[in-house]
Amino acid sequence: MGNTVHLLDFSDLIKDIEQSYNEVVEWRRHLHQHPELSFQEYETSKFIAEKLEQFGITEIQRNVGGTGLVAKIEGAQPGKTIAFRADFDALPIQDLKTVPYASKNKGVSHACGHDGHTAALLGFAKNIVKYKHLLKGNILFIFQHAEEQPPGGAKDMIAEHILDDVDYVFGAHLDSSLDVGKVAVGSGYKMAAVDHFKIHLKGLGGHGARPHEAIDALVGGAELVGSLQKIVSRNIDPLQAAVVTVGQFHSGSAFNVIAETAFIEGTVRTYDETIRHFVKERIEQITKGISLAHNLQYEIEYLLGYPALYNDEQQTEKVKQALKDGFGVEAVVELQPSMGAEDFAYFLLEKPGTYFKVGSKNERTETQFPHHHGRFDIDENVLVNIQKAFAYITYAYLIS
Ligand code: MN
Repeated sequence: MGNTVHLLDFSDLIKDIEQSYNEVVEWRRHLHQHPELSFQEYETSKFIAEKLEQFGITEIQRNVGGTGLVAKIEGAQPGKTIAFRADFDALPIQDLKTVPYASKNKGVSHACGHDGHTAALLGFAKNIVKYKHLLKGNILFIFQHAEEQPPGGAKDMIAEHILDDVDYVFGAHLDSSLDVGKVAVGSGYKMAAVDHFKIHLKGLGGHGARPHEAIDALVGGAELVGSLQKIVSRNIDPLQAAVVTVGQFHSGSAFNVIAETAFIEGTVRTYDETIRHFVKERIEQITKGISLAHNLQYEIEYLLGYPALYNDEQQTEKVKQALKDGFGVEAVVELQPSMGAEDFAYFLLEKPGTYFKVGSKNERTETQFPHHHGRFDIDENVLVNIQKAFAYITYAYLIS
């Protein structure tokens, strides 16, 4: 009998979420017009805090690890604590759209949709707070700054112990390659660890006609670029994922001058930690070997970025079922792994949970552009769908 009452109340929550469409769209468009770069999201952070206060949420922590915020609502009965995270930084990309809500900040735009994540989590907070009498447990709302710029905001927020009392963490990203109405969920490694290397080679410049008097950094550098390609093709199990990309190679200044220096810069993407460190070691060994062979001096800067994102099997299955129950079986598709990065990975290293994607594509509304494109936009129905996904997860963990 208790369950029937809960189900009726829960369907009221879903109705409230649907009716919040206009308001949430308004927030999203406000954020879209006023994007702020990573680690500089002061107005965005203020906007979020003001909204949370208006909803009557009293437990708000500001300036968590930077401009991050955490809010909490406690259920009527004790139970588990689940956390939902939205990121809120923008990108150094010029907004190329001509819509009335285009960015007013020159050279900066919400080209990844973090404005949508934030508006949706705010909407969910506003709607769920009226139903906290249904909850057996608590909800933590994590508004995270600086996802786009390593070292990222997640690490610094976690360092402030925000996850200490949390049992499970969930994150959603809207996805312009997935039709609106669909959600993509899956367990295992879904996003890569992303590392960054810079190699400086130093020889001795000289006349192009007298190579025996010089030490050619360009020839050594070219050989190094070629050899780095063989790490993945010759040293890594073909059934494992790894990418080594050299994105820059600069050397030389004139046709008849032997280059004194060479600069090589690139990115490494892996899932498995052992492979991650193995690739780093191979880059160091190969650089050392080729430098020795060419009589060059070398220096390597190796910057470890975000770790790989791993979705816990058990919690992902539970979420997948909850989303199938809520959206219908045909709306839920398997989340494909990618070699992109996401600092939500740090949350999942601390607590089990899942990171999933919610479709925002609709050809008719010009929403097919990829993330990080100047014309990136979303079908704003995704703002309701993200909220519903959070509601179905809340139902599975704290109500049913
Ligand atoms: Mn993103």
